[in-house]
Amino acid sequence: MQPDLSRFSVNQITTPNWSMAQAIEGYAGQGVGGIACWRNYVADYGVERTARHIRDAGLWVASLCTSAWLNAATEADYRAAIEENRRILDTAAAMGAPCVVMVVGGLPAGCKDIMGQRARVRDALHALAPHARAVGVRLGLEPLHPMYAGDRSVLNSIKDANDLCDELGDAAGLVPDVYHCWWDPCFEAELRRAGPDRILTFHYCDWLVPTRNLRDRGMVGDGVVDIPRIRGWLDDIGYAGKFELELFSELDWWNRPGEETVRIGIERCAPHVGPLPAIAKDQS
Ligand code: ZN
Repeated sequence: MQPDLSRFSVNQITTPNWSMAQAIEGYAGQGVGGIACWRNYVADYGVERTARHIRDAGLWVASLCTSAWLNAATEADYRAAIEENRRILDTAAAMGAPCVVMVVGGLPAGCKDIMGQRARVRDALHALAPHARAVGVRLGLEPLHPMYAGDRSVLNSIKDANDLCDELGDAAGLVPDVYHCWWDPCFEAELRRAGPDRILTFHYCDWLVPTRNLRDRGMVGDGVVDIPRIRGWLDDIGYAGKFELELFSELDWWNRPGEETVRIGIERCAPHVGPLPAIAKDQS
């Protein structure tokens, strides 16, 4: 029996050697339901052309990755980054992406004030919220594991992301990723606090032991993350949204043919991306 992949997407960073066109065809060809796109591939292929190809292939768009970093050292560069993020929201709207995944950047060069930088990011999100609402694209807040706080994102806990969502209302939502959140004692409670509608897409991969570098995420099932339990929490809160395989894997999966990574990704994710149990029962 074919697995139900209607809720399942692949993030194209999982197959970085594929062009946009190859990723669209490669995912659709193996029955994947959706695609999460990265800006550089969209820019190479063209926004309209990407959108049309995705539609023609019968895929939906999970998200546009990622925002421009907000770790500018000068006020002028900071304002330019906000303006760039407005344009990224426009691109997302043009290609039917429901959200832009907000990777907000680490500390500005020479800065040691992480709390100050977090406040600055909060201000930036408030500055972006009206434009997000106007174009109908949500700010997808993805907390990153604290090991990335210095260089990639000062948003590091799902609790902080939920707090920001409370402030930003329907302009924002959560992009939880098991890789970034699995260790957090608050993970389950914060998913319950978020409820089903705040979660925009849900990222799967695994945490390898040992983790060899900052781009060494495991294929689902190869690490220590209890994905069946986490899926159970999502079913409990009635999450009916999307799942996404997202692998950064410099030493392993990025070096394999895309077809193989997608095929094995489907095999590993299929048990965890099916319909809600109640829906499955209705259909039987
Ligand atoms: Zn992620």
